[in-house]
Formats: sequence, structure tokens, C-alpha cells
Amino acid sequence: MKFKIGFSADKYEHEDTAPAHIAVPEEPKLVRSVVQIHFPARNMTLSYYNDQFNLHRGDLVFVDGKLEGKRGCVVDVAYNFKIKVSDYKRVIAVADTNVTGELHLAGSHFVAFEPTTMPYEKVITWFKPPVKEDDEYISGQDDSSFRLENLGGMGASNAVGERGHDYYMSNKVVYICLDGEHGRAIVEGSEPYELEFEFKNGEISHLTCNCFCSYPCKHEVAAMLQLRETLDLIEKNYAAQYKRGSYFAAISKGAFLNFVMDGKETGSFVMN
Ligand SMILES: [Zn+2]
Repeated sequence: MKFKIGFSADKYEHEDTAPAHIAVPEEPKLVRSVVQIHFPARNMTLSYYNDQFNLHRGDLVFVDGKLEGKRGCVVDVAYNFKIKVSDYKRVIAVADTNVTGELHLAGSHFVAFEPTTMPYEKVITWFKPPVKEDDEYISGQDDSSFRLENLGGMGASNAVGERGHDYYMSNKVVYICLDGEHGRAIVEGSEPYELEFEFKNGEISHLTCNCFCSYPCKHEVAAMLQLRETLDLIEKNYAAQYKRGSYFAAISKGAFLNFVMDGKETGSFVMN
């Protein structure tokens, strides 16, 4: 049996703040606030000063200071406050977790075939703060390639293969997409890692992971296992949809629930 899920969370905050007959400006006026942010990775809640964003409960944010790079969730917003600014760290980024479009069930993941539903550029903001301007990344790649159906060709050691398989089984490949021949994935290990690869005629090449290992890593093994599973399910159940745009994006059900649905007060989905 096939299920289809269409989920959308509109930008409801505009409707909440003004009656329908008043024209609402595109950019709501910025309101400074002191926000309580919960950091699941540390199981702690701390106060931050916010002078850059219009924050709401449930928003996913990143901060500076000690917990830089850790993802936090806004649990309370205060507009009445008096603080000594130097005592406070700030909110530096807020993630866009609105997803609009049609999703299909595919094993452990939801799959979209429209590039606008869950683009990589949006999803990565759920996992990492924006790259700082002074951080420079350089990558290199060789010409090695292997068949997706024969992952032994990756040349991973047994230990790495096993760890990769564990990662795959516990759905640590939270996101994977394939746009034509170009693929990207996000694998959650001790931190979120970003992977890229090319896939053509069953052959994987130019596979890289930003954990900076020089050998095939567990994240790469996990991503390839997930790619294989997702492509099998797509071929079996959604071949026509995939063929139309040669594009798919898959997100683990857990990540979808966590980032897209939890904490939202409105939105809807349809199952059929
Ligand atoms: Zn890696």
C-alpha cells in the first residue's frame, strides 16, 4: 500500500499578529527579546539576547558563546526586560523549518520529488549554523569509483564498514538527495557531516565527507547504504515521479518529526 503525505506550515505569524483587514507589511518589525533556549544535546536551558530575528516559541536557533554550533530550541520569549548586554550571548541564526509540498513514504524516510520541497540548502540550516565568512573549505577528490550494488569496491576496512552499517541502521543518514547525477547527504555523527558524490549508471564517484578522514569513512558507508535502499524503494514504488524530474530528496522520519512538525502550532498534512 502506498501513502502520500503533503505537509505545509504556512507563515502563520503574520495572521496571528494582525486582523485580516489590515495590510501586513512583508517584513514584520523587528522586536528585540530575551529568549530562553533549550539545548537538547546538553539538556540545559539558558537565556540569550536577541536583536536580529523575530523569534517564536519552537524556533530552531544557533547562538554564539560556549554553545556555539549546538542546536537550540526557543522555549520562551520575553519582550519586557532590562539586561546588561555584556552579560549575554546572542542568537546568531534561526533555521527555516517550513516545508511545503508532497512527501511519500519510503522505508525509514520520507521522499520528495520536487526540488523546492526540501532543498539541501534549507535542510542543512536545521543541523548547522551558517558557515562563518573567515572559514575556508577546500576539498580534493581522486578518480576512484565503485558500483553502488557492490560497496566492497569502496575499500573500507571491516571496522569502518561495520560502524557505517550501524549508522545506516540507526537512521543517522538524516538527509540524502540526488539531483541528476549530483548527490548530497547529511549524516549525524558526533556532529552533522556533509557528504557529496556523483552517481551515474550505477557508479559512484567523487565521494567526499567533511569529517576530513583520508580513508573511506563510516559516514560514507552509511550514506551509500541509505542511497541504495532509497533508490530501490523509489524504483519499486515511485518510478514515474522520480523519472519526471530526475530528483529526489529523502529525510529520516525522526528528523522530519523533530524539525518540521514539533513545536509548530499550525500546519496540516493529508494522507491517502
Ligand atoms: Zn566522514
